[in-house]
Amino acid sequence: MTKGKISVHTDNLLPIIKKWLYSDSDIFLRELVSNAQDAIMKHKKLSGIGEAEAESKYEIHVKVKKEDGIITITDNGIGMTEDEVEKYINQVAFSGAEEFIKKYENEKDEKSKIIGHFGLGFYSAFMAAKSVEIDTLSYKEGAKPVHWVSDGGAEYEIGESDKDSRGTCITLHIADDSKQFLETSTIRAILNKYCAFLPIEIYLTDGSEEADKEIKPINNTSPLWLKNPNDCTDEEYIEFYHQVFMDFNAPLFWIHLNVDYPFNLKGILYFPKLNHELQSIEGQIKLYNNQVFIADNIKEVTPEYLMLLKGVIDCPDLPLNVSRSFLQNDGYVNKVSAHITKKVADKLTGLCKTDNEKYTQYWDDINPFVKYGCMRDEKFYDRVKDAIIFKKDDNSYVSLKDINEGEDKIVYYITDSDAQAQYVSLLKSENISMVYLNTNIDNHFISLLEYKNPELKFKRVDSYVSESIKESEDNNADNTSAIKSLFEKYAGDAKVDVQALKAKNVTAMFTISEEARRMEEMAKMYGNMGMMNLPKQEETLVVNSSNALVSKLAEREDDSIKELICSQIVAMAKLSRSSLTGDEKTEFLDRSAAILEKLLEK
Ligand code: ADP
Repeated sequence: MTKGKISVHTDNLLPIIKKWLYSDSDIFLRELVSNAQDAIMKHKKLSGIGEAEAESKYEIHVKVKKEDGIITITDNGIGMTEDEVEKYINQVAFSGAEEFIKKYENEKDEKSKIIGHFGLGFYSAFMAAKSVEIDTLSYKEGAKPVHWVSDGGAEYEIGESDKDSRGTCITLHIADDSKQFLETSTIRAILNKYCAFLPIEIYLTDGSEEADKEIKPINNTSPLWLKNPNDCTDEEYIEFYHQVFMDFNAPLFWIHLNVDYPFNLKGILYFPKLNHELQSIEGQIKLYNNQVFIADNIKEVTPEYLMLLKGVIDCPDLPLNVSRSFLQNDGYVNKVSAHITKKVADKLTGLCKTDNEKYTQYWDDINPFVKYGCMRDEKFYDRVKDAIIFKKDDNSYVSLKDINEGEDKIVYYITDSDAQAQYVSLLKSENISMVYLNTNIDNHFISLLEYKNPELKFKRVDSYVSESIKESEDNNADNTSAIKSLFEKYAGDAKVDVQALKAKNVTAMFTISEEARRMEEMAKMYGNMGMMNLPKQEETLVVNSSNALVSKLAEREDDSIKELICSQIVAMAKLSRSSLTGDEKTEFLDRSAAILEKLLEK
């Protein structure tokens, strides 16, 4: 055995790396299995061009020998000669670790996990092991097997090994604080997370002879995304979705990404069925690099709104061992992201055009995604604007395009059909159609639509009457001014307007103009912030002169009953718009009892 000193300048790399990667300590396994896979791929290539002997079966074996406190990772790849161990392990791997720390020191961004995911390589073995052995035999003719051992400090020993088959075996002597890795189930879970789709078969056992007899690979070496879309069936897509996302609802539809030029990108994006109970969208985009899982939801690569979908994206050319801030400005990443956006938009507009019935069925589930995408990305809006549709109060659909091409550019909308029931029936009685806009982002979405389509105006149903007042000034029934002055006494701060409404059953209702309401909502959202010192927005009490009760009241002499009924009508109007305050509610109930009592007196 020869002893040597590893050429690193930073002492005690290990504790620093351990601390930084604490939350991700399981990545050592991915790194070592990736190295095994790389070594096999290199051999495959050499053998393909006749520079290495042929191999009938490439495989990686992971063995968890709990009793001995070790894990071994064995491959039948190219192996290493003594010189190569010197060069690649003692110099490259250790200096890689050193470089990693330098990068991290500059970044100081704890969340930039992407670096933690790559570029650490072999050295990460020391995150779980107190010492590491390498036994390796190179494919090169006449090569001697090499044994190397180190405890992760600056020292190592190198000598001859008894390994008699080509390839590399890494033995990890698991550290006392990492004993959880000696459970086969833990290792299986880690392999499932990172290596479920690796192209080389991986076998996991506890090292016993029995277990070795009947093992199956833990991975699927040819995941669906690599297949030609023309060869995939719906069943396969759905099955793959269940398998990868553990979501046992079937997805609505999917997009198979398959690009070879000008960059390499493969993947499948699924539009999930929303979980209406939770009313939240929990997407998940899994990013792979050559079938090795990198991480979920990396926002630098996948446009943020796409993370509402579920899917897998495999980008073999992605420069992952660089910092995140670099990724954001990287031309390649931007191209990938633009391509995905285009594909998603094409799928939506295509479906809307060719299978409109299905598209409208999906709309409830996909609309938050489409809307969010539009707000996040102008290009996406431009691409999908013709596929934006609205559900109407009669459950049919109208498209943004139709509204834009029609004469009437005012769209009345319902945000809460229970709370706004009075207004909805009023508009219905006047033959005005309405659309539902009841997702959380609709408020912002309509602002975007109005900005993009300046003629378009969205008005919530409870602003309807106040908007039409101006046009209905010729509604001058004789008793108008009497009704007006009567109700002014009861309307508080609100303005009173008298109209003859078609809906005769309505006595009175409060309305607030769309602009005023939006201002109010905005002020609320920004918590008033001092600068938003808005005057209280004026409401209008619209009293219906075509309602029998109202006109009878106007004719009646002043007395206590008249007072009682007017107060009650105003409270009812308030009730139909929002709820009453505690005091108002008490008064309302007392008055209701008094009115009932009067009925008995008759
Ligand atoms: P990276 O894989 O990023 O190059 P690593 O630290 O993981 O960095 O590995 C350093 C080098 O050691 C590799 O590039 C490779 O040449 C060599 N190596 C590591 N593991 C193996 C293996 N199982 N078989 C053959 N060579 C290996």
